[in-house]
Amino acid sequence: QDPVPSDIAIASAQTPKLISQLAGELNLAHAEFEPYGKYTAKVTLDVLDRLQNNSNGHYVVVTGISPTPLGEGKSTVTIGLTQALYAHLKRPAFACVRQPSQGPTFGIKGGAAGGGYSQVTPMTSMNLHLTGDIHAITAANNLVAAAVDARLFHESTQTDMQLFNRLCPKKKGERKFADIMLRRLQNLGISKTNPDDLTPEEISRFVRLDIDQIMWRRVLDTNDRFLREITIGEAATERGMVRKTGFDISVASEIMAVLALTTSLPDMRERLGRMVVALSKKGEPITCDDIGITGALTVLMKDAINPTLMQTLEGSPVFVHAGPFANIAHGNSSIVADRIALKLVGAPAGEPVTLENAGYVVTEAGFGADIGFEKFVNIKCRASGLVPDAAVIVATIRALKMHGGGPDVVPGKPLAEEYTRENLGLLEKGFANLRRHIENVSKVGLQAVVAINAFSTDTEAELELVRRLAREAGAYDAVPTNLWAKGGAGATELAEAVVRCCSESKQNSKFHVLYDHNLPIKSKIETIAKEFYRAGSVSFSKEAERKIEEFTRNGWDKMPVCMAKTQYSFSADPALKGAPEGFDLPIRDIRASLGAGFVYPLCGAMQTLPGLPTRPCFYDIDVDSETGDVLGLF
Ligand code: ADP
Repeated sequence: QDPVPSDIAIASAQTPKLISQLAGELNLAHAEFEPYGKYTAKVTLDVLDRLQNNSNGHYVVVTGISPTPLGEGKSTVTIGLTQALYAHLKRPAFACVRQPSQGPTFGIKGGAAGGGYSQVTPMTSMNLHLTGDIHAITAANNLVAAAVDARLFHESTQTDMQLFNRLCPKKKGERKFADIMLRRLQNLGISKTNPDDLTPEEISRFVRLDIDQIMWRRVLDTNDRFLREITIGEAATERGMVRKTGFDISVASEIMAVLALTTSLPDMRERLGRMVVALSKKGEPITCDDIGITGALTVLMKDAINPTLMQTLEGSPVFVHAGPFANIAHGNSSIVADRIALKLVGAPAGEPVTLENAGYVVTEAGFGADIGFEKFVNIKCRASGLVPDAAVIVATIRALKMHGGGPDVVPGKPLAEEYTRENLGLLEKGFANLRRHIENVSKVGLQAVVAINAFSTDTEAELELVRRLAREAGAYDAVPTNLWAKGGAGATELAEAVVRCCSESKQNSKFHVLYDHNLPIKSKIETIAKEFYRAGSVSFSKEAERKIEEFTRNGWDKMPVCMAKTQYSFSADPALKGAPEGFDLPIRDIRASLGAGFVYPLCGAMQTLPGLPTRPCFYDIDVDSETGDVLGLF
């Protein structure tokens, strides 16, 4: 239709098929899916056991150029490309996307279900509570926070030995806490088996938390900026145990990163147990295992580990699962969703994957490719062992013009004339940004297919110029797409290019990660900065230097690095557009997520709880009281 109706109008005009029908089409056994309402279901990890001998289908990651603040259409292309593969090329195809946070849904950006005729449906449930995974994360995260503060409170009135005796009363033969301590000592080379042999000195290493070294914060899934920094413990009942802390958005919880990177229930339990919440007064890292909470966290998270099955507007299956922050975490959807999807579209046991016998999993990596794709490769694929076959880079004429020197693009304000009129000069200049991303994709042995996400104001000459330049820059192919305006039908040429690219890669994969995770922390940071960002140098603050030494002493230096950097520039300065090089990348601080399994250097200040603008999205959101339909959700 011209003009294209709003996302919610398009979505409401179509009735999705029942989730049981979709599950039937995927040959899921009844015990392998649990419906939540009519159109969504959790799929259990048992599928992986049943299909363990099948070969994985083709694996495609969708990433993007350095975007404008409006977003260049990664989610839209992920969904539209899957629709094209499934409904037009008639291939089995699965999209794997992140679950949107409710913060932005009611705040600035809007949802993340794709857009136009390329959407996940029903988009209202996807953008709201869905199957409760984010609520489960909030509950689990805040149980840890409550446990830590309650522990501090009880420590304030008891000696170390009193605490120890309360935690593992001898009379009842309760040994959980003592066993934790014996294990900790064992790791430090002190071998004891009998809790009675523990000395007060040994016990005090792990029981008394340092109130100034509490790392765990509370979370909620609302853009409530006034909770960024708070003072807790003000009630008289807390006996003056006042301290400063704060809230992050739920999706910034380490538990979200754990969910996204875990591979099984036992693995999730182990990761949750490894999360560090504080340091003890003696400087020992205190983990969730140490405070005895791992089992309870696993109980709260046991349903969240199963990905949620939904569908696109054209009826192809979608997994919506996990949605970690893309700066302080790795910004990719879950490993378990990708794995199940790859088996469901995979080749039968014993058969090598071919064009005919296997389908496609299209998974989205958040942020621009210097961040989301880099982390997809070096964090997600390293953890999963999965090998991608192709990378789709989403580019828009508008973002390329911005990189060529066009004026700032500001959400809520009309676009400047540069963006709505043909301007080949600006476009050619800004192409440098896309060229850099194409080169980066090839650095890890993959081929890039560029999806030029066409807007109604783009001209034929502009689309053709990007296509030519991208091919000359070494892209496998570059294809203008109309999937926002036309759905899968607007992306058949893109789908054909992806099929060809995957087929070649399956026969001769050259994929590899960018660095060895055993390298020293600084070398890993420098490799990413110099190879992917083209920084000339990396400078470390005194604090970062000190922490790197401390992490290395703790043995936390053998994990991949998760850069917390802006997505708006290759550098740490969002205003530096295009393809800058030779700049200095400043590392302000560095933190560790032991459960997720990465350290995250901070390049500049990172906001972990967004705020609401003067006129937030919630102004337009309502319910039709006659039909019960949701209105105004984009
Ligand atoms: P990203 O995933 O890269 O942040 P999205 O796919 O969420 O981007 O798209 C951002 C917004 O732009 C969405 O509201 C989407 O509907 C809209 N959009 C995407 N592609 C187009 C297009 N070709 N024309 C018009 N609007 C588009």
